Amino acid sequence: MTENLYPELEDRLRPLVEPLAPPRPGEWLAEHREKGQMFRQYLAANPVRRDRDLTTIYLCVIGECDTAQQSVIDITREFLVIFFDSPVVVRRTVPASAIPNTAKRKHPDWGDRQLLAPYILHEILEPDRPDDALAYLALTARDLWPGDGWNFVYGQANLRRRVGVWSIYRNGYPGKNAEAFRVCLRRTAMTAAHETGHILTMMHCTMNRCLMNGCNHAEERDSTPLRLCPVCLRKLLWNLQVEPSGYLRRLAEFCAAHGLGEAEWFGRAAELLVV
Ligand SMILES: [Zn+2]
Ligand SMILES: [Zn+2]
Repeated sequence: MTENLYPELEDRLRPLVEPLAPPRPGEWLAEHREKGQMFRQYLAANPVRRDRDLTTIYLCVIGECDTAQQSVIDITREFLVIFFDSPVVVRRTVPASAIPNTAKRKHPDWGDRQLLAPYILHEILEPDRPDDALAYLALTARDLWPGDGWNFVYGQANLRRRVGVWSIYRNGYPGKNAEAFRVCLRRTAMTAAHETGHILTMMHCTMNRCLMNGCNHAEERDSTPLRLCPVCLRKLLWNLQVEPSGYLRRLAEFCAAHGLGEAEWFGRAAELLVV
């Protein structure tokens, strides 16, 4: 099989690269030693990849959410369709009452009601994952925690088993007003795409400002762009084997329609890649 490695992509998009500033105290890279992942390293990792067998992204909604939250989830589903160039299907809803007490807690200091992310990954998603699932993602309006020693996580994914979970709990209440809705949508779409990127074996990006940057806290997350840097974009396009400029134009249109600031970046990137 001949396949496109998109060799020109990193060069052509160089004008749009924003190198990551050195981490400030409390930011992800100040607390986690990570080496990043170049395109060649990504190929060498034999990543989970969209192909004839793995075609569809499935969602599992855990616990209750109200109309405004449901609307954010619906638009995020549309975003994932474009971002991963794949059908995204809601497969299942699971009531919070179906989660055992051993996988729930109230945060000891803050009192937030939390669900144990690894339980969702291993006990709910993995046994139920369809054979054609490129990714099987759970989402919930409850807060998540990954286990002992952690306060919370925005999301968690497994880099090999095609499962991930993310929460909209810390994204603000979208029913408050139009701006709160837009902020919540942006955060929700960002975590969904970031976790799905991990499912496709993409590691955290340590080089450039990028959707695959790790983030420790709300301010760091809100300064992260809702788009990949050229190196990570090349990984994703190789994974999906899609034509770059049309793909980027679809993202530009989606962002423009929903008031997400990246419309211009995607539009410029599409122009730079027109053959
Ligand atoms: Zn991550
Ligand atoms: Zn990147």
